[in-house]
Parts: sequence; C-alpha cells; structure tokens
Amino acid sequence: MNTSKQTTPGDLHHVLPSADAIESARSKLLKDLPDVGIGAEKTNAHLQADLVPGLNRASESPSYYGFVIGGATPAASFADEIVTKTDQNVHVHLPKETISTDVEDRALTMVCQLLDLAPDNWTHRIFTTGATASNILGLACGREFVVEEAARRRSQRISVAEHGIPQAMKAAGLDRIQVLTTVPHSSLRKAAAVVGLGRQCVVEVGCYSESETHRFDMHALELRLSEPSSASIVVVSCAEVNTGLFATDFAALQQIRQLCTKYGAWLHVDAAFGLLARVLPQTEEYHLLNEGVAGLELADSITGDAHKLLNVPYDCGIFLSKHLEVGLGVFHNPNAAYLNTASTETTTSADRTIPSPLNMGLENSRRFRALPVYATLTAYGREGYREMLERQIRLSRGIANFISESEHYDLLPEAHRKTTTDVRFRQIYIVVLFRARGDELNKVLVQRINATRKLYISGTQWNGKPAARFAVANWQVNVERDLKLIKEVLLEVSH
Ligand SMILES: *Cc1c(COP(=O)(O)O)cnc(C)c1O
Repeated sequence: MNTSKQTTPGDLHHVLPSADAIESARSKLLKDLPDVGIGAEKTNAHLQADLVPGLNRASESPSYYGFVIGGATPAASFADEIVTKTDQNVHVHLPKETISTDVEDRALTMVCQLLDLAPDNWTHRIFTTGATASNILGLACGREFVVEEAARRRSQRISVAEHGIPQAMKAAGLDRIQVLTTVPHSSLRKAAAVVGLGRQCVVEVGCYSESETHRFDMHALELRLSEPSSASIVVVSCAEVNTGLFATDFAALQQIRQLCTKYGAWLHVDAAFGLLARVLPQTEEYHLLNEGVAGLELADSITGDAHKLLNVPYDCGIFLSKHLEVGLGVFHNPNAAYLNTASTETTTSADRTIPSPLNMGLENSRRFRALPVYATLTAYGREGYREMLERQIRLSRGIANFISESEHYDLLPEAHRKTTTDVRFRQIYIVVLFRARGDELNKVLVQRINATRKLYISGTQWNGKPAARFAVANWQVNVERDLKLIKEVLLEVSH
C-alpha cells in the first residue's frame, strides 16, 4: 500500500485533545442560531481555529487502539471530498442521468471479489451507514424469509412486510421468532428491537464452558430450531469485538447451514471486522483465521463494515444477501408516482440490471458512499489490502507476545492462549485482550496508559474483572515503530 501520505509519527501520537483544549473548544461553540450569519469565510476560520482542536484524532492517528474504527486511506479520503463536492443522491438507478448506481454496484462487485465471494450469488448488495444498519437489514430479511417459509410449509402465502408481524405469524402458525447466536455484538439486540422481534428474542446457544462460549453448542441449537411454532434466524459472530475470537470454523458453519436449511431458518453472519480476514493467504500462520472466515459463502446474508478495516471514511457499512426477492419484498418503496418512471429498472451496459437502492435498503435519499470504496480498492487492490492486514496482525501478535512474556501482564482469554508457544498467537487477529497481574494496577491500567497520551486503548471486562484491549485497525500501522512505542508505554505504566 502506498504510504507516502502516512502521518509522521510523533505529531499524531497525542491522539486525544487535552482536557483544556476540549473545554476551550466547547466554550467557543455558538450558543444560539444567529439571526444574521457571520458568513462562510469567518465560519471556516471559526471551525479551523476554534472547533477542530476539540476533536480527537482517533481515525487519523496510528496510535489509537480503542474501538475498531480504522482510519481513512489517502485514496478514500480524496474520493470522499468528491462525494461532498458532487453531492450525488444515490437513491434511484438513473442510467441516463448519472453513473452513481453503476459505481455502487461495481464497488460492491469488487468488495465481493476481494472477499472471494462470487458476486453473481450476492444479488442483494448495498452500502449502509454501518454494521448496525446492516444487521437491521439482515434481521429484516431473515424475519421476512422465515415467516414466509413457515407459512409455505403449511401451504399458506403471507408476508411480514405486507401484512405485519401479528397477522403473518398467525397465518404461519408461529408464536415466536428467535435469533440464535453466540457472543453477539450489542447492535444485534438493537437490530432485534428495531425490526419488532424484541431484544429478548436474542438467545445465546454457546457452549457452556467459559473458554468456549463463542462456539455453538450444536445440540442446544438444534433443540431450539426444532421447537414447534418457532421460526429462527441464526447469527454467527465473525469475530467478537472483545476477544477477537471467531464463532465458527468451516465444519461448524457447514453444520449450521444444514440445520438452517432443515428447519427453514435464515443464516446471517455479522462479520463487521472479521470479513477482511478473507484476504489472508492460506498458510499455517493464518490457519485459525482462515478457518474463522471459512464457509461464509454458505450464509444467506452477511454484514461487513467498510469504515473499519477497509479504512474508508465514516460512514460506510456493507450488506450482502443472496435473496434479492426477499430484500425487494421488505424494502420496496411503493407508490411514489414521481419516482415511477425513474425507478424503472433498466439494464445498463453492464450485464446486470441494477436495482434501485431505495428499493433494497433502509433509506430513500442516500450519500454516495460507494466512491471511497471504489477508489481505495482501485488504488491498493487485493495485494494492498492483504499487506495492510498482515501488518495489523503482525503488530497485534507482537503486542500479545510482549504481554505474555511480561511479568506485569496476562494475556486473555487464559484458556485459549496458554497453549504451546507455537500455536499460541495464531488465533490472534487484530484484537489483544489483557490485564495487569496486580489488582491495584489493573484497576487503573487503561486510565494510566491513556494518561501517557502517547496511545489510546479501551477498557473492558473479562471474567468480572477489569481488562484492557488493543484493537489494531489503522492502515498506517508500522510494526516496528508502533511496537516500540507500545512496549515503552506498557513498561512505563507497570513501574
Ligand atoms: C462494530 C461492530 C458492529 C457495529 O458496527 P457500526 O458500524 O458501529 O454500526 C456490529 N457488529 C460487530 C461484530 C462489530 O464489530
């Protein structure tokens, strides 16, 4: 990847503005709407001088390891400026007026190619605002499919999108729709609330043993799937944000697919940041990661996030599904006479008819999110992304190695990582979970690390105790430089 525009280390290592800078910026915010504006020029100066110093540099800095947020590659940032300037509304396929929908479709084709997913199979594909929105799409499509399927099995035809949940469930003979999963991201329960299934419909069917909660207990899964008067959506966490562990391997995903087909369930994979592991070479070093993303082609729908590891600017998520007809059934934007002629879905010069985005996603009017994705994939290609992810993994494993050899820290989760040295780090992807050995230090560990203002990590919980976590997601990772700084900080804090 061309790193010529890389931020020079040092100038951005202070990833958070100081408390004073934040306070000062906040105090300069206009209190009320002015009757007469101060004009664009003065406003520009106000933003630059007064407000920008109060923003964090989480995305700009290679030393931000908090949430999995990624940065923005130079190619993607440049494209984003064009997006702002040209202000396309990518809502209806208008092949005689703009190529914006062609760009979106082509960018999503390239995303499929990057991930080794046959583009022709993923007919319902669209950019969303993020992985949360993609999970909402996944559950909405799943809900439509499983109720229709239950109705079909009693020779009825009914649609949730048309008739609403109560009537459709009655016709389908259903009392309950459940979402069966392990270690779900918080946004899955939110998505369940939004699509009317309810947060409590999310049921964890992970293995009982503490170190295996991310793995499906297949027996428990089948028991749930076979409950009478229930329809199910199965969601695979690929991977989990706290530990970075993947819920399935190829064999498990095949088994889940068979069960879903048998019981008429929908299989959704939340691969917000796991998805990019599909670009890794099939080598011993990455074997466990290769397994973690193996078999995704068996899913009905997949969530991805482009503003995470693909390193495009906020906001941009990815939704892929094999069932365009289900997606159109749910998201079709009906009876807008003024859009009728425009939304006639015309075959373009490409060999595929491009459905209008407003008929297969949440929004009607939408930002041209596709252009930065198109630009960054064009600029760096498969090789560039593979190289970038390998750097991120090498840094994560370097951190893990340092922590596990240190007398002051413990690498987590214990059960996984205390295996023989050789394989110990092979399951480490881009998340490193750890804690300080001494309880006193552990309580203030994250605070102390962040107080150095040289890097930023986030706090979490593990086994009821505070824990800390590095998430490596920025395109600017420089293994040697960054590892040196991280070791310095971890040593400084432990003394
Ligand atoms: C980050 C993340 C989400 C939510 O993504 P947003 O882009 O913040 O909406 C969902 N699922 C997983 C697994 C994630 O890591």
